Amino acid sequence: MKSADIRQAFLSFFEERGHTIVPSSSLVPDNDPTLLFTNAGMVPFKDVFLGRDPRPYVRATSSQRCVRAGGKHNDLDNVGYTARHHTFFEMLGNFSFGDYFKQDAIRFAWTFLTETLGLPREKLWVTVHVSDDEAERIWKEEIGIDPQRFSKLDEDNFWQMGDTGPCGPSSEIFYDHGPDVWGGPPGSPEEDGDRYIEIWNLVFMQFDRDAAGNMNPLPKPSIDTGMGLERIAAVMQGVHSNYEIDLFQNLLRAAADATGHADTTAPSLRVIADHIRSCAFLIVDGVLPSNEGRGYVLRRIIRRAIRHGHKLGAREPFFHALVAALDAEMGGAYPELRKARPQIEKILLKEEEQFARTLDHGMGLLEAALADLKGEVLAGETVFKLYDTYGFPFDLTADICRERGVTLDEVGFQRELEAQRERARAASQFGADYTAGLELEGETTFSGYERLEDRSRVTALVDE
Ligand code: ATP
Ligand code: MG
Ligand code: MG
Ligand code: MG
Repeated sequence: MKSADIRQAFLSFFEERGHTIVPSSSLVPDNDPTLLFTNAGMVPFKDVFLGRDPRPYVRATSSQRCVRAGGKHNDLDNVGYTARHHTFFEMLGNFSFGDYFKQDAIRFAWTFLTETLGLPREKLWVTVHVSDDEAERIWKEEIGIDPQRFSKLDEDNFWQMGDTGPCGPSSEIFYDHGPDVWGGPPGSPEEDGDRYIEIWNLVFMQFDRDAAGNMNPLPKPSIDTGMGLERIAAVMQGVHSNYEIDLFQNLLRAAADATGHADTTAPSLRVIADHIRSCAFLIVDGVLPSNEGRGYVLRRIIRRAIRHGHKLGAREPFFHALVAALDAEMGGAYPELRKARPQIEKILLKEEEQFARTLDHGMGLLEAALADLKGEVLAGETVFKLYDTYGFPFDLTADICRERGVTLDEVGFQRELEAQRERARAASQFGADYTAGLELEGETTFSGYERLEDRSRVTALVDE
């Protein structure tokens, strides 16, 4: 079953059960300035759960584009290391706004997986929250789940969108990819492995968490579920990794062609294939590379992709060239992507050209520092120099170091950053005369100062 067919089967299944199909919203939430990106299918419905945004329906279903590369849900560091994480993915979801609750949510999910998709029951594992006897009863008595494949967990079964907002206990469904893959069942010490992969999270929305941490009951208990399209596609296509599904094949081949690296299972190619999706769609949704906020997250993802290309031997801009393959793969489902293609290519190419100027030198400096390294921690001064002079975001240096088993002195890096900010502050206190002096020295000095200001605003995002 192709990814597109699974998406359609899901939406039709819920439409037949009284749900209104709602198109995907933007990656930039228009209803929540505290949230960096749309990180789940429920985000566009946040105010509906809170009772502030009346809609003509009480049941909805969607395939929502999501980015998890900053804020509460951040999978940037997982990409390239696990079989199941992307920065950009599509979340299939069904929602009840004060209509049905646990019983129907569980039944719908089970019917879709075991009947519509025909998955064997013995491959599916289920968890609920430790406190949730009601969900346990439904799973055991009404669905007849084997108690061997059922467990009650704590934090893993409490879902929240961010530090504030709608939240509640959840029930998760996992798929067992079999003993060839390392990993243990949910709740076991090996659960982070990729054998038992979480495919679907059913959230029983009951609270609105406020800034003081109070859990205020929602006007009506509601349902929010999320299933990663790429993960369920891997299950349906009999492959273990998300990167082996149909959707990624052409992207990986295009990345292989563009970088000249033939082995499409190389982790760096997977990172690049992942990153082109988040970068292109962020630009479609109006984010531009910059030194602050959302734009800085985008810049970080772009530079990470470029560095992985560089690692594979690419010495010419390659990243922008992948937009064509992405368009071929997803432009049908997302006409806005097709339309924006020339701009996306232009923006990415510009970023590539800009970073190319410092990447080689920065890599040289880093390689020398790693060769001289005594111990396993890279000095904060080096990390700062790479950041300040060569434009290496903190996480990019961390990614390279992780490949070598080296960690970064983050405290030292922060200290350097703070010292630089102090210097900028002191300089600005000299007032008009001093600034006039700077102008005499030429424009570069002045724009350098502006850059400093930008940076101080982004540090909060640097190590989220
Ligand atoms: P995991 O524990 O594997 O990181 P999660 O518990 O963080 O997943 P949820 O927040 O419950 O994920 O999101 C709902 C569903 O969205 C997951 O069950 C999964 O199918 C999918 N999903 C979550 N994060 C990602 C990601 N980074 N890439 C692809 N799919 C994802
Ligand atoms: Mg996660
Ligand atoms: Mg999880
Ligand atoms: Mg989950």
